[in-house]
Amino acid sequence: MPLSAKSRRPFGSHTFVTLLCGLLPVILGFAILYMQAERVLRQSTQSTADEALRQFELMLDNTAQSARELLPLAGQACNDVKLALREQVTRRPFVRSASLVLDDNLYCSSLFGDAQEKVNAGDYTQGSLWLMNGNPVTPDTALLVYRLSKGKQGALTTLDGYHLSNVLRLIGRKTLLLLQVGPNWLSTDGKVHVGALPVLPVAESKLTSSHYAFTVAAGFPEGENWRYMASEYPPLFSLLIFFGVVSGAIGHVLQKRTWSPTHEMQRALKAQEFVPYFQPVVHGDTKKWSGTEVLMRWKHPKEGMVRPDLFIPFAEHSGLIVPMTRSLMQQTAQCLGPVSQSFDSPFHIGINITASHCNDLELVKDCRAFLRAFAPGSIHLVLELTERELIKPSEITLELFEQLHALGVMIAIDDFGTGHSSLVYLRQFNVDFLKIDQSFVAMIGIDALSRHILDTIIELSVKLDLGIVAEGVETEEQSDYLTAHGVNFLQGYLFGQPMPGAEFINALTHH
Ligand code: C2E
Ligand code: CA
Ligand code: CA
Repeated sequence: MPLSAKSRRPFGSHTFVTLLCGLLPVILGFAILYMQAERVLRQSTQSTADEALRQFELMLDNTAQSARELLPLAGQACNDVKLALREQVTRRPFVRSASLVLDDNLYCSSLFGDAQEKVNAGDYTQGSLWLMNGNPVTPDTALLVYRLSKGKQGALTTLDGYHLSNVLRLIGRKTLLLLQVGPNWLSTDGKVHVGALPVLPVAESKLTSSHYAFTVAAGFPEGENWRYMASEYPPLFSLLIFFGVVSGAIGHVLQKRTWSPTHEMQRALKAQEFVPYFQPVVHGDTKKWSGTEVLMRWKHPKEGMVRPDLFIPFAEHSGLIVPMTRSLMQQTAQCLGPVSQSFDSPFHIGINITASHCNDLELVKDCRAFLRAFAPGSIHLVLELTERELIKPSEITLELFEQLHALGVMIAIDDFGTGHSSLVYLRQFNVDFLKIDQSFVAMIGIDALSRHILDTIIELSVKLDLGIVAEGVETEEQSDYLTAHGVNFLQGYLFGQPMPGAEFINALTHH
């Protein structure tokens, strides 16, 4: 069955949607994991920076306390106070050296005792901290000098860079951690650099002390996000891929479900799979071929030749019947047009139409184009409209039928006797033929009531001066009966089955 769930849509779009359904959760999940990794790394650098800041402040508290104790001694003779200086160095864990200053002159130090060295307050950030790359005693060892001054008096205490770089190394084991004091900064290897702090590429966090003039910066090197995801999230990646596969499969199934018959028929229409078959209509008396009814077949690539009653209802419902009939008429014109010169009297070509053809005047254009393909006067185009779903008279339908008649197109009421068209209706639409439904023909010689209806229809058509065609003639008995009762045209398996164009033209030349 061509319109079952087995129907396929073109490979490309189906695969694309399936892929999209599968990839979307994976991509979204990946993006969420990336953001989550970024958040975790930022939290980590924030707490690292916070911890380092606290450690540096503790060390500086120790150094500053020492300077506070020494400050009142500044101005006293170095000999009198140098022991006090050395005591600070010994007692305080983070104080490496201590000195006293008077009038910006360092005159006494814990190491040398008497000294003479100019002190420039401008070297100290906010007048209190100087990160130096060593001094004459230890040239390449970083040193942080704390300066406290009051009037002419001053005290300097120093913190060994070894302690500072230790903190950077131990606290920032997984992160990059730097200490900045004014224009200089210290890296984990204990080296002092001059200039602005380098930018730390991933999750950089900077914290500035509220007590002392320094800043710490923590961050990660380039690509840390990916490294973190690769080491922490492999189980989540598996889960994402699982979701992707499930969602792709759901997308695939849903598409199959929503893939309606209409879509399948649109595809078939584009691929010209709806083709005309031709069944001969013969003269009642001579039995010569007087015309044909064009019957649609679906040449389905998988299902083979499909009968119209299996797909016409879908086509009518979706409105596709209009372009399908147009295609059928074009193919019929291409097939029969070239041989129309040889028709000796007007050949009847019956095309089935439905109510949806009557909503506008497009049909007139289609019929005009159809007739142009034939030798002038060589055919009668007959539009067959089934009595089961008769159209309602309206301004547009009356206009349509008027224009069709003006073109010389004829109208037949198909399956006559099964519906309830009135005489008024037959007149209104200027009907030319009645096609007696095959159920009445089949009852000839079997059912008296059906035969009675048949006789009445024949009588009615004579009275109304309408041509009459009997469908479904299968036996000689039926043929004889209908001919005896003056039925002008006969159609049925007795005279020929519906057949492809080439076969029909071939058979036609023999009649
Ligand atoms: P229909 O218009 O009444 O067409 C006559 C149907 O009777 C055809 O069936 C034909 O093959 C069949 N038939 C002809 N002679 C005999 C016979 O001696 N005995 C029996 N038992 N059947 C016979 P088909 O081709 O299967 O078409 C079925 C219906 O599908 C048509 O009934 C028509 O209503 C619809 N149809 C076919 N082609 C088209 C089309 O192009 N457009 C529209 N709208 N409907 C179409
Ligand atoms: Ca018909
Ligand atoms: Ca019929």
